[in-house]
Amino acid sequence: MSDLARPARAFPAADRPLPAADGLTEAERGRILAKAAAFAPPPALDKAGRRELLGLSREELAEAMAGIGEKPFRAKQLWHWIYHQGVRDFAAMTTIAKPMQIRLAEAFTVGRPGIAAEQTSVDGTRKWLFRWRDGQQVETVYIPEDERGETVRGAVCISTQVGCTLSCTFCHTGTQRLVRNLGAGEIVGQFLAGRDSYGEWPTPKGGSRDKDNDEEGRKLSNIVVMGMGEPLYNYENVAKALTILMDHEGVALSRRRITLSTSGVVPMMDRCGAELGVNLAVSLHAVTDELRNAIVPLNRKYPLAELLAACRRYPGASNARRITFEYVMLRGVNDSEAEARELVRLLRGLPAKVNLIPFNPWPGSPYETSRPDQVRRFAEIVNAAGYSSPIRRPRGSDILAACGQLKTESERKRATGG
Ligand code: SAH
Ligand code: SF4
Repeated sequence: MSDLARPARAFPAADRPLPAADGLTEAERGRILAKAAAFAPPPALDKAGRRELLGLSREELAEAMAGIGEKPFRAKQLWHWIYHQGVRDFAAMTTIAKPMQIRLAEAFTVGRPGIAAEQTSVDGTRKWLFRWRDGQQVETVYIPEDERGETVRGAVCISTQVGCTLSCTFCHTGTQRLVRNLGAGEIVGQFLAGRDSYGEWPTPKGGSRDKDNDEEGRKLSNIVVMGMGEPLYNYENVAKALTILMDHEGVALSRRRITLSTSGVVPMMDRCGAELGVNLAVSLHAVTDELRNAIVPLNRKYPLAELLAACRRYPGASNARRITFEYVMLRGVNDSEAEARELVRLLRGLPAKVNLIPFNPWPGSPYETSRPDQVRRFAEIVNAAGYSSPIRRPRGSDILAACGQLKTESERKRATGG
């Protein structure tokens, strides 16, 4: 069976043992999951106490229906309306009888994030500042590809946390402390709100069943999990959200059209590969532990050798599905030709491509963008060694929507602490 025809994998039960990864302890993974729970989102209820359906797995939705005495087929109907048709109002769900629509509306809600601000760049990039029920905010970006004839495709860059625990020195989000994790419904909600904005409902034909053209006719054809936050420090919610978005009876996005970017949370990379099978991007940015310790502080916990070993065992990595290594070009810091050669040495034998990202400045940032000729020389060395090394054009920089520029003014305010 083609991989694309296979139904999206059910999300595993939380009590299922995690697969073992070489050399990393169960305790370490347990610690990460416990920390994620400490920054859990508030309960998904609206002011009237109605339960949010967005973000429930198929199994959870069936349980919610059982809770009001309804059979599993009701969950299937709702799934179609919510994720295929994009309908939020129970009264518009015409295959459901009126009295049942009323009962559902009394107990449940199908929400979207509030839109605190929306801006569109001169290059077509659109950025939203989304607000959640507790007042916290994140940014989401839609980046259209260039027009090719009639077709425009593009990626939605999704956030996974309000702030970030890590503090990479070149990243604007890193200057904001972690406030909390986003819930699965909040992660899914960013994509659905993007579709609302472009009127892309119901899910365009093609879907993930059509192997070569699964993005045909879709503006929102790809997802990059590269917005605010470290997705692998909020793994449970991210995994649940992506599983929902990949479900072929809903948004039906192929896992090949989803790329998750991590700064290198090694113990969770194996799980991501085994359970989600999405494309992996790794924020490398330096070729020695000394420099990486300084600019990506997580490297002190998971140094380069461990990170690259986790990449080598990432399931599905092949020449057809290469791991992307992101490399932000910082003038005079990490952009020398010797570093390009060392990069090639580190990647030897790995199915990889290198995305060179000219540093995007933000107010008060401590670095300068590498000179274009230096970026070109770096790219040539990597290219000559057989690794594709596109230089990423900054998109939406006039609206501070480019890589690493996202930040909100959210304050650290926990549901319990205030
Ligand atoms: N936390 C994850 C995903 C979000 S960051 C991660 O670090 O991978 C997405 C990408 O933007 C990362 O590669 C990150 O290193 C890069 N980035 C951060 N700040 C940047 C900046 N100012 N200019 C260019 N790229 C930046
Ligand atoms: Fe967090 Fe990624 Fe920014 Fe580092 S680059 S601070 S991991 S969002």
